[in-house]
Amino acid sequence: MKYYMPVRVFDEKDCVSYHAKDISALGKRALIVTGKKSAAINGSLKDVTDALRQNGTDYWIFSEVEENPSVETVFAARDRFISENIDFVIGIGGGSPMDAAKAIALVLKHPEADLEYLYDKSADPSALPVVCVPTTCGTGSEVTGVSVLTRHDKKTKISMVHRVYPALALIDGKYLKSAPHTLIVNSAVDALSHLYESVLNAKSDDYVRMTAEAGLKLWAECKDVLTGEKQADEQDYEKLMRASAFAGMSIAGSGTSLPHALSYILTYDLLLEHGKAVGYFLPGFMAEAPAIERDELLSLSGFDSIDDFISFINRVLGKQDIAQSELEKTCIAVASNQAKMKSASFEVDEKMLERIVYFRQKNGMP
Ligand code: NAP
Ligand code: ZN
Repeated sequence: MKYYMPVRVFDEKDCVSYHAKDISALGKRALIVTGKKSAAINGSLKDVTDALRQNGTDYWIFSEVEENPSVETVFAARDRFISENIDFVIGIGGGSPMDAAKAIALVLKHPEADLEYLYDKSADPSALPVVCVPTTCGTGSEVTGVSVLTRHDKKTKISMVHRVYPALALIDGKYLKSAPHTLIVNSAVDALSHLYESVLNAKSDDYVRMTAEAGLKLWAECKDVLTGEKQADEQDYEKLMRASAFAGMSIAGSGTSLPHALSYILTYDLLLEHGKAVGYFLPGFMAEAPAIERDELLSLSGFDSIDDFISFINRVLGKQDIAQSELEKTCIAVASNQAKMKSASFEVDEKMLERIVYFRQKNGMP
């Protein structure tokens, strides 16, 4: 067994301001990477720029990261800022800007790098230091080395092979206050999926189970917020963010499994949000998982039974019309990928994969 989580995590209210010196200790010239709007609205961008100014750190802003960031965006940022002698990169936002920041930090360090470089296991994986400030509660990207990137040439999403762990993760639940309920729900379902998939994973071990168990307990405490039965307060936002970070630590140890593998083509073709796409396959995956371990995970996350869990997913994610042809395409793509087929802790053959993919349809679910 090995446990590797080299990220310095500060998880507290106003942590960006409190740790301004830790940010500026990473260099004199920072590139801030954000999505198009939200960082300016939820206060995270201002907190970061105030912190940098306080310590005399120069900064540039790249605010063009789209949802499900593409490799083209990564290289566009590199080409625009390569002459600025950037020392470190700060990713602010959901998984999209944080993942983009990691890849940008890699290619800024290696100006000669091209698309192949991102997928070449023999290439030097060192990158400029990265700081992550999450503003959604799903990906846990602030504590993983993973960068999931859209490949338009392949019409799907493929993570780069290099692992770029952030040097610093600054986690503050207050950035969720301005997030719409659907974004909180979608990203919390993503976090739940990370927690389940990391344990029901061929690479799971006691360290993965330790972080997943802690994450599931925190996640369970926020369930009523997701169903709308409770108005979220400051503590709920903190717990949602922390559960997402624990979930990130869990997948950093084991990787994800079939719901994630199945989600990528759906997201690419239908522009379905990541959490929704993963959540579509989660009931089928859980229904096939060995009952004892599955029920323990469900119970830790506050569900009485698999039926209770499925009705929760239907309730919070709502109706999703996915064409039969799209499900077939996804099923064929994953069935032909041996690594993905072997990613679960239990044996999955093509028949079982089909049951997972068509579970919602077959069970008359929305
Ligand atoms: P996202 O794609 O980063 O953002 C989704 C939307 O939410 C964007 O429109 C964004 O607006 C907005 N937004 C973000 N924070 C907000 C806030 N606090 N208030 C209001 N709006 C806000 O969403 P995500 O679900 O966090 O990330 C999904 C990506 O992460 C996918 O590409 C997925 O594959 C990847 N992922 C990575 C890992 C990993 O380990 N690295 C794990 C799971 C998933 P703006 O565009 O204006 O910012
Ligand atoms: Zn995910």
